[in-house]
Amino acid sequence: MPIQPLVDAATATAALADIKPPLSPQEARVEAARCLYCFDAPCIMACPTGIDIPAFIKKIAVDNVTGAARTILEANVLGASCARVCPTQVLCEGACVMLDLEKEPIQIGRLQRHATDHVAARGIQVLHAPAVKSGKRVAVIGAGPAGLGCAAELARLGHAVTVFDRKPAGGGLNTYGIAYYKMKPEVSLDEVRMIERLGVEFRTGVEVGRDVQAADLERDYDAIFLGIGLGGANRLGIPGEDLPEVIDALDFIEWIHTRPLADVPVGRRVAVLGCGNTAIDAVTQALRLGAERATIVYRRGREDMSAYDFEYELAKSDGAHFLFHAAPVEVVGESGHVAGLRLARTESRDGRVTSVPGSEWVEPVDLVLKAVGQEKQAALLQRIFPGLAIDSRGRVEHDPQTMRTSLPKVFAGGDCTSGGREVVNAVAEGKKAARGIHRHLAGDTVSGPVQASRLGVAGPPSGSGFDRPIRVHELEAALHKG
Ligand SMILES: Cc1cc2nc3c(=O)[nH]c(=O)nc-3n(C[C@H](O)[C@H](O)[C@H](O)COP(=O)(O)OP(=O)(O)OC[C@H]3O[C@@H](n4cnc5c(N)ncnc54)[C@H](O)[C@@H]3O)c2cc1C
Ligand code: SF4
Repeated sequence: MPIQPLVDAATATAALADIKPPLSPQEARVEAARCLYCFDAPCIMACPTGIDIPAFIKKIAVDNVTGAARTILEANVLGASCARVCPTQVLCEGACVMLDLEKEPIQIGRLQRHATDHVAARGIQVLHAPAVKSGKRVAVIGAGPAGLGCAAELARLGHAVTVFDRKPAGGGLNTYGIAYYKMKPEVSLDEVRMIERLGVEFRTGVEVGRDVQAADLERDYDAIFLGIGLGGANRLGIPGEDLPEVIDALDFIEWIHTRPLADVPVGRRVAVLGCGNTAIDAVTQALRLGAERATIVYRRGREDMSAYDFEYELAKSDGAHFLFHAAPVEVVGESGHVAGLRLARTESRDGRVTSVPGSEWVEPVDLVLKAVGQEKQAALLQRIFPGLAIDSRGRVEHDPQTMRTSLPKVFAGGDCTSGGREVVNAVAEGKKAARGIHRHLAGDTVSGPVQASRLGVAGPPSGSGFDRPIRVHELEAALHKG
């Protein structure tokens, strides 16, 4: 049987509501007043973008919420999305001195959300680009967190930036891939609009290597930033993998972002293969959208899972089952649809995982979500940019100080250089690359700064606050410039 939507719109909306709801102004002031405003604050050291956390918290405490947002956004242009999606438990909040005092850490993420929501809801633009431009042009490939971090910083340094993305809307995984109960796509799209107001041009629906060639970009731009992230899910390489209900977990999550929630098809019995954060997001959302049983299948043990402990606990509290030391052998089909998953017990010896002979059994399932890691884009990159050095793990080689690749005009950052980390790391690397590009352009500058033509900066759209429920498909048209 093909899979069907299982819940109505109201149930889905309630089930996927924010797990970290906003603080009221009163709650935010009370929470901010708990901060010790530490000298050499460990929370700042733990933030990859180095946000001055005690400074913004202090501003919230004295009711200067716009000033707090400025402090955040100057350090991290995606402060609104990071407030929602950062694993704060292992970053800033995990480093908060309150824990040493055996108290609850300051809720830094929720305070950051309070400040960034304040300016977004009121259409207050706190970041600005200089009126005098450098006359240099930079092409950014990929409008994900890395590309956006790079583009915003370059615009603030006075360069003209064009961002190319093959998707209809910008934001990368922030718009299409983050669990819906952590962040709604309109938050990410609002960040794209804020960067657009800095004068950055977005050409969405344009794939570099297909619609635009790298050679054209090298000719027309003074520098190029590569922020293309990772590819689709790795293949399983087992019989039955091409049945229609065997789906990349990322595609499943993207349906939730791009279709009306009541139209998202979900299996009644779901198997999620893999045990990273993507698997946790997929299993949790499947359960919240009405799956009767959802099981994570992992060939190693609980101790080997790459998912964070708090994500694991969330999935368990949502009713997810975990099948450790089991590997898929075949997706069993019936009348052209998924009917089961043949599994084998596994054992680990000297780090190697093997199936136990004769241990196979079939679990009845009607949807299989693949979350076994994303492919690297090495082949694509080398086709687009011949001569680009890629390391043995498929990542773009780069100088960690400047993010410059083996090609002198080409810089890179985000998942395509790290192999896959967090949003905040991608923003930080994009920003670092912008500084590297700026130095590269300064070295190239023979004439002084020139007055650039106006870059078509749009005014803030009315009602662009996060309280307005907007779906990606409604906004694609507005953002599409390709
Ligand atoms: C399911 C999932 C859940 C996640 N959840 C979290 C979370 O809760 N918290 C967190 O901090 N991190 C999370 N992450 C990680 C985070 O999303 C990534 O680390 C981050 O998005 C990387 O940013 P990026 O810009 O490098 O890549 P991406 O976000 O992947 O953006 C790359 C962009 O490049 C575009 N592109 C690719 N090729 C081309 C081309 N040839 N031409 C034009 N455009 C191109 C793509 O369309 C895309 O928009 C999650 C990741 C996944 C997969
Ligand atoms: S470590 Fe905790 S208490 Fe100290 S400044 Fe940071 S948030 Fe405030």
